[in-house]
Amino acid sequence: MTVFNSPHYDGHELISFKHDARSGLRAIVAIHNSNLGPALGGCRMYPYLNDDDALDDVLRLSKGMTYKSALAGLPLGGGKAVIIGDPSKMKSRDLLLAMGGFIEDLGGRYITAEDSGTTVSDLKVIAERTSYVSGVMEGGRFGGDPSPYTAQGVFYGIKAALKFKHGSDQLFGVRVAVQGAGAVGRHLISLLIGEGAVVFVADVNPRNAELARQAGATIVTCDEVLGFSADVLAPCAMGAAINSCTVENIQAGIIAGAANNQLASDAQGDRLLQRGILYAPDFVINAGGISDVYYQRAEGSSASTSAHIARIADSLLEIFARSIASNVSTARVAERLAEERFLLKKRVEAA
Ligand code: NAD
Repeated sequence: MTVFNSPHYDGHELISFKHDARSGLRAIVAIHNSNLGPALGGCRMYPYLNDDDALDDVLRLSKGMTYKSALAGLPLGGGKAVIIGDPSKMKSRDLLLAMGGFIEDLGGRYITAEDSGTTVSDLKVIAERTSYVSGVMEGGRFGGDPSPYTAQGVFYGIKAALKFKHGSDQLFGVRVAVQGAGAVGRHLISLLIGEGAVVFVADVNPRNAELARQAGATIVTCDEVLGFSADVLAPCAMGAAINSCTVENIQAGIIAGAANNQLASDAQGDRLLQRGILYAPDFVINAGGISDVYYQRAEGSSASTSAHIARIADSLLEIFARSIASNVSTARVAERLAEERFLLKKRVEAA
């Protein structure tokens, strides 16, 4: 295993490995940067082919969380945890308790949350051994699932992009193509239709496509959705939807969706700028979920969460303006803006 030579190693503050022989737990926690606050990020459980893949994933994902929280204006750093193993076969109460002990030993530098392969019920078991868990509060609106808040942020982001590009954030009659009608996509579709947008949806899962149809969307095929003739394309499925094959076929003037890592590489962001397509960087527009997770832990009200999420629009407008002024892609501008925030904080403290 290469740690410091990993292509995803970026001066991470801490990388901690845990093996618990009794429960079979093999896990890694990575803290990328904590200048702005304790590192918060989900705990993913996945059957990685080997330890290197797990390490690369946790390094990459923890870095992404630093940038996301910095741009969301949250007092949080970036961290992530991965548990190596198939959740359907290896997950046990003992393993989750051991994971809780691992997180507790980090003394609050890392706060965990739900991610793929873990559920709110799993987090409740982890929370038996550590208080450094978010997204497990009972009652009220705190159900643990941040996807409605992610959708709300994407909705504000779409309106900000429309305003920037066309001078109006009205959705009535605006054609939006949504790739993926899962947890986030389905909430987004309802919000869009609620304001009069004309929504086209593709989903590989026929059940989710049918639910979208019942909500008022028109179903299109998965092959056509990325190049569909729409005003806005909202990728809400898997990463790398915008790659060297798809980027030339996109017809929408705006790309604004929830999926993580939408661009296969920075080159696609550059190409979108050249083509005059306004891209809302994923880690800015999909920060509604992390904001909700933060406010759950801070025991904030639903109103304070929503008010915070509304600020996603302001961040995007700033990024769009800087991108046009500098002729640099929105993705690169967003990265620089995040770095200004989390690196500047350290420099100010040192001065
Ligand atoms: P989900 O698994 O609930 O939904 C994804 C949907 O996309 C599913 O319905 C799936 O069938 C569909 N899909 C997969 N591949 C497809 C394809 N090629 N074409 C069309 N449909 C396809 O996931 P989610 O929670 O809704 O998250 C969606 C995206 O947003 C993911 O990339 C996720 O990482 C990101 N995200 C989610 C949250 C959140 O709060 N859930 C927060 C930030 C980012």
